[in-house]
Amino acid sequence: MLLSLPIASYCSIERLTLSHFSCAQQDHKLNGTGITTMHATITPKVFMDINKIAEQNYDWVERMGWHNKSTLEALALVASEVGEAINECRGEKPTENFKEELADIVLRVLDIAHWQGIDMEQVLLDKMKKNKQRGTRGRVK
Ligand SMILES: [Mg+2]
Repeated sequence: MLLSLPIASYCSIERLTLSHFSCAQQDHKLNGTGITTMHATITPKVFMDINKIAEQNYDWVERMGWHNKSTLEALALVASEVGEAINECRGEKPTENFKEELADIVLRVLDIAHWQGIDMEQVLLDKMKKNKQRGTRGRVK
């Protein structure tokens, strides 16, 4: 979606743009009176929270009839995706396919989280905070 805004509006929403839009381009155009006006073409950044991704993926897997009967079975499939990711790293550097295997891992984990009613975004934030509070635990770089 593109928005075209006059420069005055552009300036007043500069902060909003910086925090909510991924790209802002300025464009000078002559209007009917020959006066140069500046327009900003802004491409809004598409935000999707991790729980929404989990929900959408869960719904799709459900429609496909692929859900597992137990969390143990679902976790085994996470492990199988880890194995696939490992296979993509057998060379000197990870293959182009490596990123897709990482996505498979994350999607399978999110699927379990949604199934179990876990707010993954909050759990991740809480865990990152907890990890930071643990300090180095004796480890050095
Ligand atoms: Mg895979």
